[in-house]
Amino acid sequence: MNPDFDILVLGAGLVGTSLACALEGRGLRVALVEAAAPNLPPPGFDARKLALAAASVQALTTLGVLEHAEPAPSPIRRIHVSRAGDFGTVRLRCEDSGRSDFGAVVQADGLGAALERRLSALKDTTVLRPWSSASLRSDPDAVTVELTQGDARRTVSARLLVAADGTRSQARAALGIGVDEIDYGQTLMVCSLATDRAADGTAYERFTDDGPIALLPMGAHYGAICAVPTAEAARWQAFDDAQYAAAFQQRFGWRAGRITRVGSRSIYPIRRVVATALQAPRAVLVGNAAQTIHPVGAQGFNLGLRDALSLAELVDAGDPGRADLLAAYVETRREDRTRTLAFSDGLAGLTATPGLAARLLRSAGLLALAYVPGLSAPLASGAMGFRGRVPRLARTP
Ligand SMILES: Cc1cc2nc3c(=O)[nH]c(=O)nc-3n(C[C@H](O)[C@H](O)[C@H](O)COP(=O)(O)OP(=O)(O)OC[C@H]3O[C@@H](n4cnc5c(N)ncnc54)[C@H](O)[C@@H]3O)c2cc1C
Repeated sequence: MNPDFDILVLGAGLVGTSLACALEGRGLRVALVEAAAPNLPPPGFDARKLALAAASVQALTTLGVLEHAEPAPSPIRRIHVSRAGDFGTVRLRCEDSGRSDFGAVVQADGLGAALERRLSALKDTTVLRPWSSASLRSDPDAVTVELTQGDARRTVSARLLVAADGTRSQARAALGIGVDEIDYGQTLMVCSLATDRAADGTAYERFTDDGPIALLPMGAHYGAICAVPTAEAARWQAFDDAQYAAAFQQRFGWRAGRITRVGSRSIYPIRRVVATALQAPRAVLVGNAAQTIHPVGAQGFNLGLRDALSLAELVDAGDPGRADLLAAYVETRREDRTRTLAFSDGLAGLTATPGLAARLLRSAGLLALAYVPGLSAPLASGAMGFRGRVPRLARTP
């Protein structure tokens, strides 16, 4: 059997589209399937603020994507981490890591538009949109996917299926791969926010008993992220701008100045959904389909991008769905995935354990990170996306 494509990427979100960009010029026939209508952005291209790790900035620049991002990415030069009720504050400065920044902040719709602009220039990728996968079948030589568009149906086959179809991945379920799931009982509210002091490149992360709260520098202003217990989300959603600004200020404090304006809020319930395996015969998972993690710590897209870059690096002009290549993919992703999940779970836990003993331990930890030479360096390099085997495209030249 000669399949229609070498690689079929299911889902043209941030990760699936990045993968198509990374596969360009490799001599492979790639299909990118997306359910969203062509005149609408995919659901993940919205107003969420994304902190891109330095490794991601490097890769997306090399792939010719970030030059199209509007507004231009805002560099993160300092990171300030604190915990309400504890003493000790961690302050990381990019100069101490010998870098000009730790990464940069973009809005997801701006990054998505930049990716789509690059996608439109790709020669190796055929975009099938709007088509949804309905079922799939794996044979020894290929995977065949049935696609639907209203009442219309068609089948496409490929040597390798890449499931990039997000948290509720239909492909993952069809491949028989299960998930471990945790409901954090938190809802994230995201908006733009201005203070009476221009942002200076500092990203703030503050942990509270009710969940994390963060300010990400975006030009002179900030992207503001605030987790609230889901049971209280409706009350927070009912706040007008002045009430929201006051509630945010009360939880965050005054370290970035007085809040003068807040924009409209987007709402995201938070769950951790981690696949129990990354591969099945002739299929692999990437991005949120492989692992959806708490946005605290800003790791989800960064990790998913490294899934995509690692896979693109492994495939060659031979059969991209062969078993040894898929096993190599799983092995290549092991350390980064394990450590990033542990990091994100650890940060999520910082909000979850009140009590004096936990407080003292956390304070001691924050103080140690702040004052013991050498301890904060691994934290900084992890936050920049340099964990485990770093994909070539993400390495600094
Ligand atoms: C509030 C918030 C803040 C965040 N902040 C950060 C951050 O600062 N840094 C960071 O790295 N990450 C962050 N993340 C995480 C990041 O947004 C996600 O990890 C990333 O967007 C996932 O992209 P994806 O392409 O894997 O999945 P998705 O965006 O879910 O894309 C999946 C695509 O598949 C399509 N699809 C689904 N099913 C089908 C089907 N059956 N057929 C065809 N197409 C299908 C969908 O339409 C969609 O376009 C944040 C997340 C949230 C919610």
